[in-house]
Amino acid sequence: MGGVSLSNPALLLDQYRIREEPYYRPLKDEVELFGAAYANRMPVMLKGPTGCGKTRFIEYMAWRLGRPLITVACHEDMTAADLVGRWLLDAEGTVWSDGPLTTAVRLGAICYLDEIVEARQDTTVVIHPLTDDRRVLPLEKRGELIHAHSDFQLVISYNPGYQSAIKDLKESTKQRFAALDFGYPDRPAETEVVSREAGIEPNLADLLVKIAQHSRNLKGQGLDEGASTRMLVNAGRLIGCGISLEKACETTIVVPLTDDADTRNTLRDVISACA
Ligand code: ADP
Repeated sequence: MGGVSLSNPALLLDQYRIREEPYYRPLKDEVELFGAAYANRMPVMLKGPTGCGKTRFIEYMAWRLGRPLITVACHEDMTAADLVGRWLLDAEGTVWSDGPLTTAVRLGAICYLDEIVEARQDTTVVIHPLTDDRRVLPLEKRGELIHAHSDFQLVISYNPGYQSAIKDLKESTKQRFAALDFGYPDRPAETEVVSREAGIEPNLADLLVKIAQHSRNLKGQGLDEGASTRMLVNAGRLIGCGISLEKACETTIVVPLTDDADTRNTLRDVISACA
């Protein structure tokens, strides 16, 4: 990727451009707030449970701001080199290959690090100099210090529910970001999202949202999280293909959420009571 990025940046950036307006239903004033943060190139943290709309929001914002978006799904084996880049061997010898963060920094994209706490600690160290007034990325292995493109912005997501003491962002990292809280949308907004995304009638979408809201009350009583908006969209899509409500909810909500037989039965009761 590095070779391509250096020889033809426009072509590379083009791959990351969002061409069509993504559907995003604003929940509060997050669009305006994010716009103001971007105007200042302020790093932003999107906080909230999985499947509540963080990724869709950043896709929408990138489209709205006309910036390419480079998304990295962080995982526990991810190291700083996966973000920044590394030397690779090819027929002509060693060539440097930029990582996705470096590409975004050089070319002025929004870089979205999804679930950064999943990655090893050394990854958070590389983002520090990018998140203060220096806006630089040191490529130690290459002996290069990159000054970030003026359009570059760093955005991370963070799920407060999953964090444990060992797997949390350091205070010194957290304090570099402005943060937007993403809960699940309120009932009318979530109904609108599910109806539109799954292509089902609002009445049916509302029923799924009611089920989800009940399931969210079970958080901490056998469930780590209740049903997410994403799960409701999936349920709605199965129903749209002729699957019954119960079967669709079983497949997209009950079975994915828990392996515990009692908790599954409790969820099934919630679904029958709402249906
Ligand atoms: P997260 O990144 O928080 O895990 P996503 O952004 O992938 O979650 O959201 C999951 C799905 O839920 C999206 O693909 C979309 O269908 C739907 N969704 C959730 N919130 C919204 C919203 N406010 N507007 C439009 N779609 C939404």
